[in-house]
Amino acid sequence: MNKKHTAPPKIKRRYFVKQTSLGLGALGLGITACSAPEKKTVDVVAVDETPRKLGVALVGLGNYATNQLAPALQETEHCYLAGIVTGTKEKEKIWQDKYGIPDGNIYNYDNYDSIAENDDIDIIYVVLPNSMHAEYTIRGAQAGKHMICEKPMAISVAECQQMIDACKQANKKLSIGYRLHYEPFNLEMMRLGQKQVFGPITGLEAAFGFKMGNLEQWRAKKALAGGGPLLGVGIYALQGSIYTMGQLPVSVTAKETTKDKNAWSEVEGSLEWEMEFPSGVKAQYITTYEDSIQYLKAKAENGFFELSPSYIYDGLELTTHEGIQDIQPVNHQASHMDAFSKNVLDGTAVIASGEMGMRDMYYIEKIYESAAKGGEVLSLVGAPEVLHKV
Ligand code: NAD
Repeated sequence: MNKKHTAPPKIKRRYFVKQTSLGLGALGLGITACSAPEKKTVDVVAVDETPRKLGVALVGLGNYATNQLAPALQETEHCYLAGIVTGTKEKEKIWQDKYGIPDGNIYNYDNYDSIAENDDIDIIYVVLPNSMHAEYTIRGAQAGKHMICEKPMAISVAECQQMIDACKQANKKLSIGYRLHYEPFNLEMMRLGQKQVFGPITGLEAAFGFKMGNLEQWRAKKALAGGGPLLGVGIYALQGSIYTMGQLPVSVTAKETTKDKNAWSEVEGSLEWEMEFPSGVKAQYITTYEDSIQYLKAKAENGFFELSPSYIYDGLELTTHEGIQDIQPVNHQASHMDAFSKNVLDGTAVIASGEMGMRDMYYIEKIYESAAKGGEVLSLVGAPEVLHKV
């Protein structure tokens, strides 16, 4: 059962008087000859006793917002569910009843821009179909809000650049919903790989796919999804390889492997690719909406380490040649939203940044280009050089 009222307590402030003496004696300079009266300033300083929680508005109340993000926002320490943006009138009351959202914090796609006047909302989280990410992120930034946008960041590098520019222009932070940068199993894969705990990596395989039942949904439509499983789930395999290797790939070759070409007429049903890393490792990838598959496996000079399942919300398992590792899971979404809120509150850098999202979109465009050119090996020089090191 979710807590009904999520608004945080009002900030309690305690006031005290701070005195600053500008007298020379106060500087300890030992000057005594001057007889002019000491000049004093009196400041009233407010001290926040309760750390401020940032208000988050979710845009697009589909599966992910309903079943993962809203519940996670009941667990977050630095932010809370303050508002919603929905095109479905019936959802307004359901969400209000469940989460105690005030009338004034409910928006639709038409009056979305007026969220600019709402001080309860600090962060907007875009959870719409992929092709809508750019527009709603840009409009949110222009409304003066910090932005989180779901993965894939958008459906082209050009859109990603526009989103980054809009956030920069508004002086607002931007993060992509790459929750695996904020949870301990994938962080351990990063550590084992990047720190070469079992020696340099000699081979890597990554795959993510699920069997999609309903092909009428937006994920199968090019105009809304931008692409097939590569954008939806293959992006996790791509990311996993980069943060485990701790390197950026230098070339790619790809081929479409769709089994049912009739069913998958607008976007690919399945795709496989290979990326070469500077160390010489050639990583192998599979992504599909035609089968269930999920792993991130690395071989190293002195052993192996692998995560399977690797990208879902819970039940992850990390195994090395030494056995199953004992790792305490966290709520991925809460961890990500809390970390981003801290970035906003403290003015610190975002790990899962817009630049990282644009980097991945660059690779995705190259993967599609290689597949379209019959597997031609394409150089990846020119990709945004964004790499998270642990
Ligand atoms: P969904 O289909 O369940 O929800 C989409 C929402 O968008 C719905 O509320 C729908 O009403 C709304 N919408 C507005 N205009 C629409 C249109 N023209 N067509 C279709 N829907 C429209 O999808 P979801 O699973 O919640 O995914 C939303 C986004 O979140 C996607 O970008 C997806 O990649 C991402 N996602 C991320 C994760 C993660 O783990 N980070 C998991 C699931 C989904």
